[in-house]
Amino acid sequence: MSGAEAAGRAPVQEAAYLEALDFARRVLQPVAGAMDQEDTFPLAVWREFARHGYAGLGIPPAYGGSGGDLLTAALVGRALSRVSPAFALSYGAHLNLCAHNILKNGTDAQKRRYLPELASGRTIGAMALTEPNAGSDATAIRTTAVASKDGYRLNGTKMFITNAPIAGLFVLYAKTRPQAGSEGISAFIVEASSPGLRLARSLDKLGMRGSPTGELVLDDCQVPEENLLGEKDRGVLVMMQGLDAERAFYSFSGVGIAEEALERSIRYAGEAVRDGLAVEAAEAIQTKIADMYVATEAARLLAYEAVHTVLGGQRASRAAAAALLFSGQTARMAADAALEIHQGSGFRRGSVVERFWRDAKLFDIGAGTKEIRRVVLARELTGRR
Ligand SMILES: Cc1cc2nc3c(=O)[nH]c(=O)nc-3n(C[C@H](O)[C@H](O)[C@H](O)COP(=O)(O)OP(=O)(O)OC[C@H]3O[C@@H](n4cnc5c(N)ncnc54)[C@H](O)[C@@H]3O)c2cc1C
Repeated sequence: MSGAEAAGRAPVQEAAYLEALDFARRVLQPVAGAMDQEDTFPLAVWREFARHGYAGLGIPPAYGGSGGDLLTAALVGRALSRVSPAFALSYGAHLNLCAHNILKNGTDAQKRRYLPELASGRTIGAMALTEPNAGSDATAIRTTAVASKDGYRLNGTKMFITNAPIAGLFVLYAKTRPQAGSEGISAFIVEASSPGLRLARSLDKLGMRGSPTGELVLDDCQVPEENLLGEKDRGVLVMMQGLDAERAFYSFSGVGIAEEALERSIRYAGEAVRDGLAVEAAEAIQTKIADMYVATEAARLLAYEAVHTVLGGQRASRAAAAALLFSGQTARMAADAALEIHQGSGFRRGSVVERFWRDAKLFDIGAGTKEIRRVVLARELTGRR
């Protein structure tokens, strides 16, 4: 199914989007500015959000979830992103990077043990791959997992981990065969309360403030044998499949930023025209609005295409990299245009367009930088996998 067809044939998920947008406007919007200014995650809003079943979307009811699929979850992320991209970022880390990964790769015992807690929102999830010296090249991670009497002993440092300061559970990658490159990485489910795991610091950021980001240190961290996620030494498979779904999921968050920037710009331009804006200025604004509209529509269709490719079980690397690359570009372009249209009032600290302008930049960096997405696309298109 093409992105255009997919966009028109998901009435249940579209209804979930509108409901989530209503929730975001009523409950999240009043705290979105303070989240950014004070750099704090609104736990009370999270609990209310979780009570509506959003924390367990895409998780079957048998594991305590609310059902639905990746599209429902990604559309909820899109709705949140229109109000607080930071809240949407934390939502994706909890649901897609952690819970969905466990659903896809976990044993029945792991799913029964961890998914109900995650789906209820009582436990917040996270995914820890990046290290101080390993970002784009994930196979360069240095965290080691050495087999011990009752499981594994993990040592290393994890950097830029979304939700680390508030998470109760991590999907975490470490080397079980350090000399074997990509064939020596394993994935683990690590409880935040595990002995030897600590939050070294919370990181201050340009954007996505209020979505807590942290550095983790594993110092002889004990992880039981049964918390190995997927096959030993095959963690790269867990990682790569997860990455395609992550890119597809977050494509919709970039779309949410662009849609909100567009809607606010249209409203602002209308008010400015009524207030007697010069004809030349009105024409310049119209051009920006037209460009924002075309790019936003195209980004949305690519995002649908990516999610449907993942859901269809086909190889999704190309569709997911393309969707996130374009969604990130569009979010930045639209946020920039919105700031230019709002000018002085947009440039003021604390304005929504100023916050969106800073938040949008993350979509060039997270889930593989924009350069890496191009590398992935070129490899997929030329057959050089
Ligand atoms: C707010 C935020 C939240 C994050 N959340 C998480 C999280 O939850 N979990 C997690 O594990 N990580 C997370 N990250 C980390 C993120 O995934 C990395 O920052 C990203 O992968 C880039 O890694 P790096 O910062 O080490 O940059 P580097 O990999 O060092 O890249 C530096 C520059 O070199 C370019 N480059 C590198 N290699 C190549 C190449 N082969 N070809 C072309 N260009 C290349 C990059 O594109 C970039 O421009 C988060 C980061 C941020 C900022």
